[in-house]
Amino acid sequence: MVSTLNLCVQKKMNARLRIIICGGGIAGFATALLLREDHDVTVLEKSTMNQELGAAITLSMNASRLLRSSLARAGFDPVKARYVEAEKFQELHWKDLSVLLEWEMEMVTKKYNEPWWYFSRQDIHGELKRAALSVDGLGTTPHLELGADVDRVEVEGNIVHLKDGRTFTGDVIIGADGIHTTTGSSVFGQLKPVSSGLSAYRCMIPSARMRQNPDTAMLVDSAKVLMLIGPDRRIVAYPCSSWEFMNFVCIFPDDTERRQQWRTKVTVEEMVEQFRDFHPSVVKFLGMATDTGVWSLRDRDPLSTLVKGSFALIGDAAHAMGPHQGQGACQAIEDAEALRIVLKGATPEDVERRLIIFNELRVERVKTVIEYTREMAPKKTSETHVNHKTTQTYSDYYWRYKMTQEAVEAMNKHGFAMALIDPATGEISIT
Ligand SMILES: Cc1cc2nc3c(=O)[nH]c(=O)nc-3n(C[C@H](O)[C@H](O)[C@H](O)COP(=O)(O)OP(=O)(O)OC[C@H]3O[C@@H](n4cnc5c(N)ncnc54)[C@H](O)[C@@H]3O)c2cc1C
Repeated sequence: MVSTLNLCVQKKMNARLRIIICGGGIAGFATALLLREDHDVTVLEKSTMNQELGAAITLSMNASRLLRSSLARAGFDPVKARYVEAEKFQELHWKDLSVLLEWEMEMVTKKYNEPWWYFSRQDIHGELKRAALSVDGLGTTPHLELGADVDRVEVEGNIVHLKDGRTFTGDVIIGADGIHTTTGSSVFGQLKPVSSGLSAYRCMIPSARMRQNPDTAMLVDSAKVLMLIGPDRRIVAYPCSSWEFMNFVCIFPDDTERRQQWRTKVTVEEMVEQFRDFHPSVVKFLGMATDTGVWSLRDRDPLSTLVKGSFALIGDAAHAMGPHQGQGACQAIEDAEALRIVLKGATPEDVERRLIIFNELRVERVKTVIEYTREMAPKKTSETHVNHKTTQTYSDYYWRYKMTQEAVEAMNKHGFAMALIDPATGEISIT
C-alpha cells in the first residue's frame, strides 16, 4: 500500500508548474515545446499574426545538437522546417572573389558530431510553434494568447500585466520578448539596446533564378555559407527552405537613424548602390532581388543576472547580440534546454533555487558569446585591403558545448539528483 507520505512526495514531484512565457518568437516557442512535458504553459504574444519575416538563420552544432535530441523528442521535425544541411564554408575577397578561407563542413560537423543547418526564419519559427502547440505532443498543449501586449511583470506575486489591463499569474514567468524587452526592463530597470553603427540589408532570391544565370550560378553550386569579406562591409549568403531560396544579409556601416525591423523596406537600387564597388557578380546577384528590407543592428551589454525571484529572461531579451557569429538563436535554444532541466520536477516552493542554477549556467556563457560577437563585427575603415581574421575564430567555444550535460551536472552539484538517461533524446530521470 502506498503511504500518505509517499503520495505527498509523488504529488510534489509530479506538480505541474504554471509557466507564463512572454513572447512567441524562436526563444518563446522552443521553451514552450520543451516545458510542455512537465508543466502547463501559456504563451503571451503581442502581435495578432505571430509570423516571422522573410530572412534566414543558421543553427550550428551547439543548437542542432539540441534540435536533434530534446526538441526532436518533444516533436520538432527539421524536415517540416525545410532545413538545408551545410556542406561548405567559404570566405571570399570582396573585390576579386579570391578564396580567403575554405573548408568542407564535414571537418567541423564530424568533429562535433552534429550537422550545421540553415533555415528560413518563417520555417523554423513555424515548426517550433507547430510542435509546441500540437495536440499530440508530450504533456499538455500550451495555450497561445495572441494580441497579448505585456506591459510589465510584477515579480512579487508573479503577475504579468497586459497593456489592455488583463493579468496572468504563474509559478514561473519567462521574458522572451526580444531585444526591446518590456518584461526585462520592468524587472531590471530600463534595458537599452546599443547601436553597433551597422545596418544589414536582407533579401531572398529564388535559387532557380540564380542557377540559370552563369554569373551567379557559382553561388548555388553547393550548400555553402558564403561570406564576401570587404574591409568594412560583409555579405553572407546561404540557401534555405529546402533550397527554394538563397538568403542574403549585407552588412554595412550606417550612422543613420533607422527603425529596428526587417519590415523597413528600401529599394533594391539602394542596396545595390551600397555594394557597387564589390565584384561585378556580386552587384549582379544583388540586382536580382525583388524585395529588400534593412535592419539597424543593435546589441546590448551583457547582464550580470538573468533572473529575479521566479522570473527569468531568455533569448534576445536576455542577450541581444549582432549576427556576426550566428549565435543569437543558438543561444536562445540553449536557454530553453537549460530551463527544461532546471525546472524538471520543480515545485512552486523551489523554483527560485532552481532559477539561480539557470542563472549560473547562462550568465557567463552568453556574456562571452556577446563579447566574441562584438570582436568579429566589421569595423568602419577607409582602408581598402582586407584585414582578415576568420569569422570562425571562436567556434570551439560555441560548438563543443553540451547544454543538456552541463545543466544536469549543475543540478547534481546543487543537490538535485537527476540523470541523463539517453543523450540522443535528452531524456532525464529524477533519481
Ligand atoms: C541579420 C541577423 C542575422 C542573424 N543570423 C543568425 C544566425 O545565423 N544564427 C542565429 O543563431 N541567430 C541569428 N540571429 C539572431 C536571431 O535572429 C535572434 O537571436 C532570435 O531570432 C531571437 O529570438 P527571440 O525569440 O529571442 O526574439 P524575437 O524573435 O524578437 O521574438 C520576440 C517575440 O516577442 C514578442 N513581443 C515583443 N514584445 C512583446 C510584449 N510586450 N508582449 C508580448 N510579446 C512581445 C514579439 O512580437 C516576438 O514574437 C540573427 C540576427 C540578425 C539581426
